[in-house]
Amino acid sequence: MKMNVKEWVMAVAVVATGWVTAGAQITPERLRADSDEQLLREWTRVLSHDEFGGRKPMTPYEDKTVDYLAGQLEVMGLEPAFNGSWFQPFDIISVTAKPAGGGFPVSGKRKSLLRYPDDVITWTTRATAKIDLKKAEYVFCGFGINAPEYGWNDYEGIDVKGKIVVAMVNDPGFYDNSLFKGRNMTYYGRWTYKFEEALRQGAAGCLVLHNAEAASYGWHVCVNGHLSDNLGIYNPDTRNADELAVRGWLHEEGLKKLFLAAGMDMERALADAKRPGFKSFALNVRGDVKMNVAYGIKKTRNVGGIVRGSGQSGEAVVFCAHWDHLGIGKSDERGDTIYNGAADNASGVAGALLVAKKFNDMPRPRRDLIFLFPSSEESGLFGSAYYCDHPAVPMSKTVACLNFESIGPAELTRDVVILGGGQSDLDRYYVAAAAAQGRYIYFDEDNSDGWFYRSDHYNFVKRGVPAVVLENGLHPVDVSKPNKYPMPVWYHKPCDEYHDDWDVSGTLSNLNLIFSVGLSLSNNPR
Ligand SMILES: [Zn+2]
Repeated sequence: MKMNVKEWVMAVAVVATGWVTAGAQITPERLRADSDEQLLREWTRVLSHDEFGGRKPMTPYEDKTVDYLAGQLEVMGLEPAFNGSWFQPFDIISVTAKPAGGGFPVSGKRKSLLRYPDDVITWTTRATAKIDLKKAEYVFCGFGINAPEYGWNDYEGIDVKGKIVVAMVNDPGFYDNSLFKGRNMTYYGRWTYKFEEALRQGAAGCLVLHNAEAASYGWHVCVNGHLSDNLGIYNPDTRNADELAVRGWLHEEGLKKLFLAAGMDMERALADAKRPGFKSFALNVRGDVKMNVAYGIKKTRNVGGIVRGSGQSGEAVVFCAHWDHLGIGKSDERGDTIYNGAADNASGVAGALLVAKKFNDMPRPRRDLIFLFPSSEESGLFGSAYYCDHPAVPMSKTVACLNFESIGPAELTRDVVILGGGQSDLDRYYVAAAAAQGRYIYFDEDNSDGWFYRSDHYNFVKRGVPAVVLENGLHPVDVSKPNKYPMPVWYHKPCDEYHDDWDVSGTLSNLNLIFSVGLSLSNNPR
């Protein structure tokens, strides 16, 4: 293309500031010549460079990131995953919803006001100018859990259609070790589950009862997270009218007000709800729920490429690494505003690219290998959720999902940590692959903070596809030295940056482990 003078001057300026340098694709020559370590470092460095602006979806930095990724898959010679395209676009709705008054009036035996946002923080994911529920009825549903495998159903014998469900955060195991998985939170404990189940039961709204201990974070996290710009996947066919009208968190003071208005004993209800056999009940409290809603809809894209298998089985193994991070935001003490996300998750994307390259360079295994780079993981696992509803290979034919999340830096360790083991056949593949490296697997059973549910692989698990998360080991090969990277102090901070002195020896050995697990999975005749 011919440039006019102005464009030419701009192009020179861009080169001078290094824009092109950091964004440059790795060429076929370099792909052949560079070592695994060089490639891993280069992809991590480029994607976490300031020029990528922290890779926030639906900003110009998204274009830069997804174009870079697609370009790299193309250079490697993968096949586009989505009907000839590298991109899987979908819509995200961003909603800011405020109550029409200072909160939500309720009345039962007495009148009260749920003040916003001190007693309750609410939002919606519907594309509408107003939420207007007339005299909505409030129902106390314990944990709001319907779990046949644990013999627990808080919705038994109660009709919540068109009503507002109040459900406690976490699950019964948090309070009684003999119930559910004890302190290991099940998915039934997550606030997102409460909304999903309330919707299935036909409720109009759901308020999750906050408790700092059971939620593992304070009320300010709920408020700050939902005051504005609440995100959700947008379905243009329904305009999300089939979603809950009201989602929210209820402060314990808000619950007190509801029970006071109901003239009922809150302490007793909370105690009963933690025991088997609890029966949910209507509070006989009603109130209008009016919110003024402002929303916007934007497109974002998952990226994906396929290494075609030889077996024509129609089955696939998915390798997954979210490309997004937090973008540009609040300044840290050094005055840095760019959340580079080098470990989270440029390192994971770089690792997935490296594994893609390895598979592409060898004789084809039997099953297809899909390399998926979802968008919007950080804001709610939206990209992987959309993919799972619109997969390149049907979920029933997806044998496993191997997720790459914050894998660098890491030193060489004797152990490898697996979160979410004990749920599927996948465990033994990891055990065998680690043993072949002279390492061992530590199955981390402590999921009390719900980490297992907070990354993309969980959308696959929800649909019955086996998936676990590999985490860096804790015990260095050199036992005389302490672990170099014991705690992720960089987590979701601008200082999550790439440095040349990163130790990636552990990262590379973990990648080899994932590679060999992937290879066994793709060749296993079962
Ligand atoms: Zn992440």
